[in-house]
Amino acid sequence: MSDYMTLYENCMLCPRQCGVNRLQGELGFCNCGPEMRAAVACLHKGEEPPISGTKGSGTVFFSGCTLQCASCQNCQLSHELLGGTITPRLLSEIFMELERFGAANINLVTATQWIPHILMALQSAKNRGMNLPVVWNSSGYEAEETLELLNNFIDIYLPDLKTISPTFSKSFLGTGDYAKTAQHAIGIMAKSKPLQWEEETLVRGVIVRHLVLPGHIAASKKAIEWIHTAFSNSVIISLMSQYIPFLSETGKQKENINRSLTKKEYAQIEAFIETLDIENGFFQALSTDDTWRPDFKKENPFPSEYAVPVWHYRFGFVAKN
Ligand code: SF4
Repeated sequence: MSDYMTLYENCMLCPRQCGVNRLQGELGFCNCGPEMRAAVACLHKGEEPPISGTKGSGTVFFSGCTLQCASCQNCQLSHELLGGTITPRLLSEIFMELERFGAANINLVTATQWIPHILMALQSAKNRGMNLPVVWNSSGYEAEETLELLNNFIDIYLPDLKTISPTFSKSFLGTGDYAKTAQHAIGIMAKSKPLQWEEETLVRGVIVRHLVLPGHIAASKKAIEWIHTAFSNSVIISLMSQYIPFLSETGKQKENINRSLTKKEYAQIEAFIETLDIENGFFQALSTDDTWRPDFKKENPFPSEYAVPVWHYRFGFVAKN
C-alpha cells in the first residue's frame, strides 16, 4: 500500500477532522469511502481566461465534498456522490489524455477527500511525461497540513472565499469555522505561489473566487476588501455573479437564498471595486442564462460552447481525435 493511502486510516484530510478509518469502511462527513470516485473530465472553456487558455482547462470533476453548501450547482457530485470508481492508474491516463487534447492545465475540482489517490495519479502521470500545470480548484476549506502535503504537486490554487463572516458561515454553509479556515488557507496559498505567467496563461499563482450573493452585498464588499487588503495585487480576484436559487434535498437544514442577483446589486459591487486599486481581476457579466448548470449524467454535462468531454464515468474515454 502506498504511504499516501495510510492517510485514510485516520482521515484528517480536511478541517472536519473526522478521524475515521475509511479503508475499513467507516464514513466521515463527506461520506467518501476507500475507493476514489469521479464523474467527468473535459476541456472546460468557462473558467477564467488565464485558466481556460485557448483549448480549455483539463478539468476533472470528483464525487463528494467536504463542505456541501445547500445551493451547490454541482450537488449531483457534492451531495449525491454521482460518479464511478476510478483507480489512480485510470486517473493518470485521463490526465495524459487531457494533455494530448491540448488542455492548458489539469484542473482538480473539489478533490480534497481523495488526495491520497490523486497524489499517486499525479506522480504516475508526471513519471510518464505529463508536463501541465496543476490547478487546485476548491471551496477554500482546507487544513494547513493538507496544503503542506499538496504544495509540491500544485502550481495554481483556485480557492473560493465564500464569506469572512463566522455567522454567515454557520447559517449558510453549516460550519462556523469556514471563514477563518479559508482565510488562513488562502494566506498559505498566496505565500507559496507568487503569480507567474507564460504569455496570456497563468502557470503559477492564486486566483481567489468570490460569489456575490443576492441580498448580501455588504458581506461581499467585506470579503473583497479583505482579499485586496491582505494580498494587494499578489493574487487575482475573480468575482462571480451566477448565483441561481437551488436547494438540494440534503442541504435543507441550511439557510438558502431564493433569488438571483439584481442589476442594482451588481452595479453596487461594480462601483465598489472601482474604488479599489485592483490590477488583476475578473468580474463575471450579469446574466439570466442558466443553461450552464451542469447535468453530470450526460456525456457532456455542459453546453458544447463551454466544454469538450474527454472521459465520463458511464461512457469511458469519449474524446474524438
Ligand atoms: S475528507 Fe471526509 S472523512 Fe476525511 S476529514 Fe474530511 S470530511 Fe472527514
